[in-house]
Amino acid sequence: MIQMGNNLDWNTDLQVGFLIDKLDHFGNDKLQKKLRKLLKKKFNDKKMRPEVVEFNTFILAKAHCNNGDFDKSESRITTEKNLHSLYQDYVKRSSKLLRSRTKRNRSEIESHGILEKFLTSIPKCPDNPGHIISEENRKMIDFIEKSFLHIIERSWIIFWAFKQKGEDRIIIQNEIFHRNYDRKSSSSALHAFDELLILNFTRPLLKSFDHLLQNINNRVENIEDAFKGSIKIGITNPELASEAFGILIGELVGGIDAIHTIIRQITRIEEIQNSAKQEILILNGFGEEIRKTVNNGRNLQEMKSKFQGIITTLKNLQISIRELINQTKEGNIEINLDNFHSAVIALPIQLREVKIWADRFMDIAFLSPESGGELSMLSKEYSSLDQEHDEDIIIKARGLHKTYRPSTSTVYALRGANLNVREGEFLAILGPSGSGKTTLINMMAGLDMPDRGQVYLRGKAISSMSDNELSEYRRNHIGFVFQSYLLDPRLSVYENVALPAKMAGKTENLQTRVVELLDNLGLKEYANQDPTKLSGGQLQRVIIARSCINFPHVVFADEPTGDLDSETGKQVLLYFRKLCDEKGIAFVVVTHDQEMSSFADRVFRMKDGQIVG
Ligand code: ADP
Repeated sequence: MIQMGNNLDWNTDLQVGFLIDKLDHFGNDKLQKKLRKLLKKKFNDKKMRPEVVEFNTFILAKAHCNNGDFDKSESRITTEKNLHSLYQDYVKRSSKLLRSRTKRNRSEIESHGILEKFLTSIPKCPDNPGHIISEENRKMIDFIEKSFLHIIERSWIIFWAFKQKGEDRIIIQNEIFHRNYDRKSSSSALHAFDELLILNFTRPLLKSFDHLLQNINNRVENIEDAFKGSIKIGITNPELASEAFGILIGELVGGIDAIHTIIRQITRIEEIQNSAKQEILILNGFGEEIRKTVNNGRNLQEMKSKFQGIITTLKNLQISIRELINQTKEGNIEINLDNFHSAVIALPIQLREVKIWADRFMDIAFLSPESGGELSMLSKEYSSLDQEHDEDIIIKARGLHKTYRPSTSTVYALRGANLNVREGEFLAILGPSGSGKTTLINMMAGLDMPDRGQVYLRGKAISSMSDNELSEYRRNHIGFVFQSYLLDPRLSVYENVALPAKMAGKTENLQTRVVELLDNLGLKEYANQDPTKLSGGQLQRVIIARSCINFPHVVFADEPTGDLDSETGKQVLLYFRKLCDEKGIAFVVVTHDQEMSSFADRVFRMKDGQIVG
């Protein structure tokens, strides 16, 4: 996790941002290691270790230096060269990997074989259509590889802040931008680093999307014509023809889906650009050049509507091909024979290209424009969230990102979530399943660490706490109503509820407290029961009693009423409300139950890993 202490006594700060290939876990790990090693060597400061982190589409590295060495240009230039060559190696590897990954797989080769057979059964077939398909595929991959390299090579940024001199220096590709500022009155451009990185990367990417658009546009019109002609051709093998047309329809469905993804990616880029441009505007001093450099000048709305237009064409094409499937049953199809063969060859290759683009930059749809991360987090220090009266805030979550990588896919569970929990308030977090609710409360409760962003407990960053300190805080001040926090089957209900109090040494009036809690939750007569004999709903209420026994500052509850019938559920919520009002316990309750809203002081909704309202 990158942590930027704004109170550190540093003179020079270096930041590096590299675009990476999310599917290349091994290469990315290696790059991170090498970066860490390089920066450690260059920034020989034991106190300030360089930090390297992988996030969404980038690897970011930070290093601080106190010795003033980097004021000398030689040290700086060698560091820049080393960084550049490190990245170059990575780019080469990435290119090789792309080639091996985009080799046609077995089912693709089989499908192309069927198309080839079908083409040869139609008059005017060129020699060896299979060979033409392979050649076209190869050309397409060459083009993609060149474009990917172009994007990756242009997507790295180096940033230096020379605090003592009051100078910022940003290197984007081979251009260097300087900015001098008055140390006393103006801040470093560090805040805008993430935004610059993202903007800079989207510039060559959008250019490639533009090319892609033109490619498909030129091709699909011809393809459409070919399938809609009026020349009657006899079909000798109707089964083969149906199979071939079926393959083309399958390709069309996948292609349409990929274009939808690309449209989503462009929408996200648009959002990111808008927020990033604001951020850059704050950077007066860098002048027009940097703004020009990162401004792609493309009309993204127009681009999206053109892609949308292609979807319409492809859908029409689906209809035409279905019509041809019907015709094959009669033994004839009506096509435009002049360009039919080239259309059948071009269509799957063109659609394959779209899919490769959509897949490679899948992450973009998840880049967070709002809390681009740590840097924008710092600049949001003055945002409304942080102006809230701090003393009341028990838990503060800022810019939380969490990514899971089950097998080869990537799940963006949190994408920049921000939240304050204040004393004695009842918060409900609503949202569909999979929107990141559990992940968010796990982070806020210190049960898991975010990849990026920070959780503060009473103003103290969780990541700076020792394990002991954190468990002590959790034991004394946090209650959990989680399904995974099972009861101890060897203890009675009473003993289970009393256990956290004993562990925390809070045994004063313990018996009265336990009895009162059990009574209020309708469990008095089960005090001496073995928990294994209780129903799901009763167990859930014991877990609730246990979570509240120490009168913690905050109770986190994940679907607390999930196992209860609606009447008991309501009773439990009323009791939460009572504890909240009378004992000042804050509740953070995750649910997909709309009813919960009526009990809460504040309701948040989550969608795709972000709090949306
Ligand atoms: P919610 O609580 O809103 O249902 P979660 O926070 O449980 O959402 O999950 C958010 C996303 O993260 C989901 O897509 C889920 O599958 C994924 N996820 C959560 N935990 C893990 C994990 N340990 N490994 C892989 N994916 C996970």
